[in-house]
Amino acid sequence: IETQLLQSHKMEAIGQLAGGIAHDFNNLLTAITGNTKLALEDLPADSPVREHLAEVSKAGLRAVDLVRRILTFSRQQPQERKLMHLQPIVEEALQLLRASLPTTIEIRSTFVPDAPVVRADATQVHQVIMNLGANAGHAMSGRGVLELRQAMIDVDTDLARTSPELRVGRYVRLTVSDSGCGMDRATVARVFDPFFTTKSQGEGTGLGLSVVHGIMKAHDGAITVYSEPGKGTAFHLYFPAAEGAIPEVTVPATPPPRGHG
Ligand code: ADP
Repeated sequence: IETQLLQSHKMEAIGQLAGGIAHDFNNLLTAITGNTKLALEDLPADSPVREHLAEVSKAGLRAVDLVRRILTFSRQQPQERKLMHLQPIVEEALQLLRASLPTTIEIRSTFVPDAPVVRADATQVHQVIMNLGANAGHAMSGRGVLELRQAMIDVDTDLARTSPELRVGRYVRLTVSDSGCGMDRATVARVFDPFFTTKSQGEGTGLGLSVVHGIMKAHDGAITVYSEPGKGTAFHLYFPAAEGAIPEVTVPATPPPRGHG
């Protein structure tokens, strides 16, 4: 539990620090990219300096993109949690993944009929599935199976004792697994750390999973990971099962058409 707390404090501190730096950096970048653009406009078309300036401009725009991602990460997104079923929002995300991943990747999903509702922010759940799905796609490099499974998990005192991230109670669990390259132990130990990435420069920011971790924490839930090199990876997402039914949307009665005269 202590390492978990440490991890979350560390995340918050890094987030704040990164956010502060990113903000100042953004102002500097505006000066750099803006003036580069102006210089390019003033330069004669055949100037040999153009090529160099174009490189400055390209690097500047990449930096702007990176800073934007860091700002999104460090900003405390306000949460809007409502009673909802996970299935529809998960299916929506899977559809988007289907459209963006190569067709040689098979996507499977199974849901529990009559699963209880959870108190969740639909946009954030969507983001969690998209982030995990994108990573899975990357790990499979074009071929394999991405699977999403829903299950009901009752955490008893024994399980809660051995899994410090879980409390006693009922959870709706989503498992996102892939048949990709997997990870060694050293990588698994660091996957949720902000800015940890094994992807090549410009390809990964190392923020995807730390965002996912933060979202699950904010849902009073948990995320765990199982992975083996060459075998694949599975992420378990635990959402506390909520009591109650989704309040029915009351459709206002259509007013009768107004007669003339
Ligand atoms: P990024 O995708 O930008 O690298 P993430 O925080 O999403 O950042 O992931 C961190 C690292 O965790 C990745 O660089 C990769 O090494 C590892 N990883 C994440 N998901 C998987 C997966 N499904 N299979 C194998 N490795 C993974």
